[in-house]
Formats: sequence, C-alpha cells, structure tokens
Amino acid sequence: MNKSLIKAHTSKAVREAVFAYKSKNKTIALVPTMGALHAGHISLIEVAKQHADRVICSIFVNPKQFGKNEDLESYPSTLQADCEALEQAGVDLVFIPTVQEMYPKGFQTCVSVAEISTYLCGHSRPGHFDGVTTVVSKLLLIVQPDTAIFGAKDFQQLLVIKQMVQDLNIPTNIISAPTQRAKDGLALSSRNQYLSPQDRKRAPLIYQTLQSTAQTLREGSPLDQALKNAAKALTKNGFVIDYIEARDATNLKPITGPLYQKGETPPQSAQLLCAVKLGQTRLIDNIPI
Ligand code: AMP
Repeated sequence: MNKSLIKAHTSKAVREAVFAYKSKNKTIALVPTMGALHAGHISLIEVAKQHADRVICSIFVNPKQFGKNEDLESYPSTLQADCEALEQAGVDLVFIPTVQEMYPKGFQTCVSVAEISTYLCGHSRPGHFDGVTTVVSKLLLIVQPDTAIFGAKDFQQLLVIKQMVQDLNIPTNIISAPTQRAKDGLALSSRNQYLSPQDRKRAPLIYQTLQSTAQTLREGSPLDQALKNAAKALTKNGFVIDYIEARDATNLKPITGPLYQKGETPPQSAQLLCAVKLGQTRLIDNIPI
C-alpha cells in the first residue's frame, strides 16, 4: 500500500515535517515543480527515492519566472490528479504554497546568477532565471534537503541552479535526471497540451532535427552550416526559431574552434540546445553532441 501523502500549504508546516524527518536521521530529497505533472516529473520522483529516505515535492506556479506576455494566467493546473500521482509514486509530502505564502506583502529580495542566466532562454525571457533562482533558493531554505532533483530537459535551468548552489554554499546536492520523451521523441512538457492536434504531429521534428544535426556535427560538419541547416528545416515546417545553438555543456559559453575533427574526440563537451515556437507555444529541447 502507498504511504499517505501529507499536504502542506505553509513553510511552517513543511519545516515541522522536515524537523520530524531529520530528528529520525532521515535524508530528504526535494523535487520542485509547477504542477500539471506528467511522466517526466514522476521520473524525477523515482530518482529522488533512490537518493533519500523522504521525498518532498513542491507544486508552485511561480509568477516571478513568467514575463508580462507569457502564459502565467493560462498555465495548466491539475492539482487533484497531481496529488494522486504523487501519492501513487510514493512521495511523502507535497508543498503547495500560495503566492502570498511565497511572496508576502513587502517581499524585496531577488536571487540572481549573473552570467549564465543571460544566455539563450535568459536572452529571450529577461528576468526568467532570476524568478527561478529566487523561488528555488527559497524552496531550498524552507526544505533544507540533502538532495534536489532537476530535469535535464531544462538544461540551462539545471546549470543556473548548480551555479547558484555552488556560489551560495547551499548544502544541497543537485542531481540531474534525463529527459523523458513521448514515443515519437517529443520531450514531455506541461506546455505540450497547448499544441493543436496538427502542431502536436509536427512537434517531434524538434528532437529529430537535434539528433540529425548532432550526427552531422559528429561526422565533422562545420558548426555554422549545420546550425543553419537545422534552423532552415524547422522554419520550413512552420516553427519560429528562438535559438538553436551548440554550447559548452558545462557553462553554456559559446563554442570556439572546431567541435569535431573527423574520427577525433571533441576538445570540449558540447550540448545542442533549441527553443522554438509552434503557434503560441514555446518549446525547448536539448541533447548532448
Ligand atoms: P516544471 O514543472 O516544468 O517547472 O518542471 C519541474 C521539473 O521537472 C524541472 O526540473 C524540469 O526540468 C523537470 N522536467 C520537466 N519535463 C521533463 C521531462 N520531459 N523529463 C525530465 N524532467 C522534466
């Protein structure tokens, strides 16, 4: 039988539960989410269970990480189904704070990671990662977990959080979990449900293009040409490109020099990342090269 899921709505209630876990010497893993849970989120819970005795999941649609013209108001919410899925997955406690609980009147602080937050998604969504790092630092301080799990699907977010935790000496081990995909290759995302049936059929082209581009790069194609071809293939099929780029996988700095010389190992680890719009829906994906 599954353990019953504790629902906490205040940081005080979470702290009390955490105190009880710690007083029994239990280790804690945190999985932060914005809800509308899918199999990608549940895979993070599975990773969390492997790393800790108790798993806490948060569900909070964080207004600070949405831009003015973004989808905060329409962001999907399936709270009851989410709680059932979390209970089924063996989560011990779900933290579901209100906006008022996280940002009470008079809230003034912003946690900002300077450089890596400005690249790629940070460039097209100014302030987005400041919202992410502010809320994640609050969650890490409330829960004080031994481990926190983040999906590699949001690759830049993962590196931004690793940087923040390192810079601020936060005593939490950040673990990444691999991207979960639909059978046709589309990375699972709460935003996929915005796609029209026609756009949903087209969406797997993102992953296909990343894969074929990575392959041509491994075969020695020049980077500029390979990226241009990838953008062209996506644009031709109705995608609006925000970016498609190869970046250093450790810090997201631009790649300088040749990526692969045929038959040789690459001089640096590289990641191919893209953000595209299909209709009104912004989708991101990435793979290693
Ligand atoms: P979100 O609810 O979209 O903010 O995502 C919460 C966490 O789930 C983040 O760490 C995401 O990277 C992760 N996540 C979202 N989609 C996937 C996926 N398809 N595979 C693995 N992790 C994911």
